[in-house]
Amino acid sequence: MLAELRAIVEQVSNADTLDSALAILVTKIRYTMQTDCCSVYVMDHQQKRLVLRATEGLAASAIGKAAMPLGEGVVGQVALREEPINLADARLNPHFKYLPETAEEGFFSFLGTPITHQRKVLGVLVVQQSEARSFDQSEESFLVTLATHLAGVLANSDLHAVLNAPSKKKKWAEAIKAGSSSSGIAIAKAWLNRSTGALEQQRIEQCEDVDIELQRFNGALDIARDEFHSLAIKLSEQLPKDVASIFDFYQQMLADASLAGDIRAKITQGYYVESALRLVVEHYVNLFAEMNDPYLKERAIDVKDVGLRLLHALQMGPSAGLLPSEPVIVVAEEVTATMFAQVPRHLLAGVVSQRGAANSHAAILARALGVPALMGLSFDVNKLQDCELLLDGYSAELFVEPDQLLKDEYNKLLAQEDQLNSLVQQKLDKPAVTQDGLAIELLINAGLSADSDIAINAGADGVGLYRTEVPFLMQDRFPSEEEQFVRYRDILSSYQGKNVCMRTLDVGGDKQLPYFPIVEENPFLGWRGIRLTLDHPEIFLVQARAMFRAAIECGNLSIMLPMISSLNEVDESSRLLEQAWAEVVEELSLEEPPEPPKYGVMLEVPSVLFLLPELAQRVDFWSVGSNDLTQYLLAVDRNNTRVAELFDTFHPAVVRALKHIIEQANLYDVPVSFCGELAGDPVGALLVLVLGYSRLSMSSFNLAKIKYIVRHVKQADFAQLQEKVLASQTGSAIYQILYDYLEKQQLSQFVRVSKH
Ligand code: PEP
Ligand code: MG
Repeated sequence: MLAELRAIVEQVSNADTLDSALAILVTKIRYTMQTDCCSVYVMDHQQKRLVLRATEGLAASAIGKAAMPLGEGVVGQVALREEPINLADARLNPHFKYLPETAEEGFFSFLGTPITHQRKVLGVLVVQQSEARSFDQSEESFLVTLATHLAGVLANSDLHAVLNAPSKKKKWAEAIKAGSSSSGIAIAKAWLNRSTGALEQQRIEQCEDVDIELQRFNGALDIARDEFHSLAIKLSEQLPKDVASIFDFYQQMLADASLAGDIRAKITQGYYVESALRLVVEHYVNLFAEMNDPYLKERAIDVKDVGLRLLHALQMGPSAGLLPSEPVIVVAEEVTATMFAQVPRHLLAGVVSQRGAANSHAAILARALGVPALMGLSFDVNKLQDCELLLDGYSAELFVEPDQLLKDEYNKLLAQEDQLNSLVQQKLDKPAVTQDGLAIELLINAGLSADSDIAINAGADGVGLYRTEVPFLMQDRFPSEEEQFVRYRDILSSYQGKNVCMRTLDVGGDKQLPYFPIVEENPFLGWRGIRLTLDHPEIFLVQARAMFRAAIECGNLSIMLPMISSLNEVDESSRLLEQAWAEVVEELSLEEPPEPPKYGVMLEVPSVLFLLPELAQRVDFWSVGSNDLTQYLLAVDRNNTRVAELFDTFHPAVVRALKHIIEQANLYDVPVSFCGELAGDPVGALLVLVLGYSRLSMSSFNLAKIKYIVRHVKQADFAQLQEKVLASQTGSAIYQILYDYLEKQQLSQFVRVSKH
């Protein structure tokens, strides 16, 4: 059966539209299971009924018309009970309901199974037989297995419904879910990048004159190099150096030792430039695409982008620069870094990319530029040509041709956001003090985005977490000590007078270095953060030395160790830090060396919750990383959409762990800050405050909002709130208590998206 099952799933997944997928499905199932009838009913959630959507055996005229309310008829019972029902004679079942329009009077036996996706019933798959007999166990499990596969197809079907409908006026229930996103809202026309695919159309042919081809190629190469250069300059005005250095990778590919050299070699073998270009680019694209490592996989997109640029330069000369005349949402099968740079920021309302994930350069850039973006949508985005789009980066949803009602709704949200933004910005330079006088330190998390460039964050007290991964991620080798030193010095000097807490390299997990791929079954439980750098003291020492040299010049540094799970790791790190400090002091011949920077650990692996007294003896401070602490405490992969609902930072276990940490910090007099995402969320920040934390670090985009909240709450209310929160048994109850308080203080308008 497995072979049949695979064949059916494959054909269904390859179908162009939902209706053709379902038509194939019912035909194939009827044939494979040798039954007289097979049908699919799809759930209409608004009207709480199941509508016949495809059938082989019932009257075709009933498709789209015959409908069974949830719970009624045997089909309705399958959906309500969320389990298969197998009946030798359906007519004898008390729930049996005859739908005359389907002409099902000839069928007696019935086997129906729910199609369920993420706990939601999307439809019911049914087979029927004219003789009265029970379907056997293997038939039942075959149908159940097929239904699980079908769930994925149906879950992404909303777009099909939109695009295949005769009218473009659609209701707003029809959102398409994306794999990952960059937050924000955009409403604009889709702007399709049409160059995609052109490379594949180039013919592979031998040329007549190699010299002419080489000349053509050199001309194209010059144009492409110039274009990348000016794009890089353009982007560097908007982005920190590390992010804009994506184009260094492109320039390197145009070097003779790389892609360009291979293309030249192919031309010398007698191919036209276009043919050589296609052969070489396809070769590299395949190489990258086959890699297991997700980061390297994404580089296939960059190679293709460079190939297309060259082709464009070859055939059309320098880009004429066809720019949109109004803000657009850039849509492409693979949005690339160049596409971002081509469209000026004020015309770039948003980005939609069919392929790509949180790790792709385009996603990194979107976040850095603050552009709402959706990545990883399972449908053909070329169909979005000329469509108006509404992109919700908060919920990772795309609406095609939204109706006026929906647009009005979102425009209200946008206006509200603007209003709130200007309200909180006005108070940015005011102190973060509660209404009854408790001073809260507000710090920023920097490093992964353009944060470091934002006017030194007038309202922030310093940097609570500087993620040092970016310069490592954006290069094709480990950055040298000198490169790191220059960068760290720049950062420290741009925050003069305020402390910057830099974290040592935290790669592994979902952050892979292109030149140091780590292939693991469970990367989040694997070689990550301090584990990797302690196994490679040369990496750790070079980074520590660079940080210390910068600290000696600027003075405002502290260092933080990520992913600490045992005391050995702290001891080993201390030893290396001492060694690096001694070396730097000696090399600089400092007669009166300053105090070495303070160093601390991140609390993000649950084991450290039981080692706090010992950690208090060893380090100067702690910082709570609630993103990982939640992931590890609840055993929920923070990047896995299937279990996203379970990633609950308000879970009582997480909340009690946070309480334990602050108690121990007070007991041992250890300064503790909080740098997980929770601190930048209005309800989360209140939770952290209520538990007793007074040093919160967050993305700079959230700082003004959180400051406003701090200034409108009262410490006197915290004890009672804390008591209630700690007595609660579910995340949603905890959330509700905090939300209600915000509402009472007229602060609930800041809560944009709520999971609870
Ligand atoms: C955390 O885990 O909470 C944290 C701040 O670190 P990162 O998100 O970089 O893993
Ligand atoms: Mg972490």
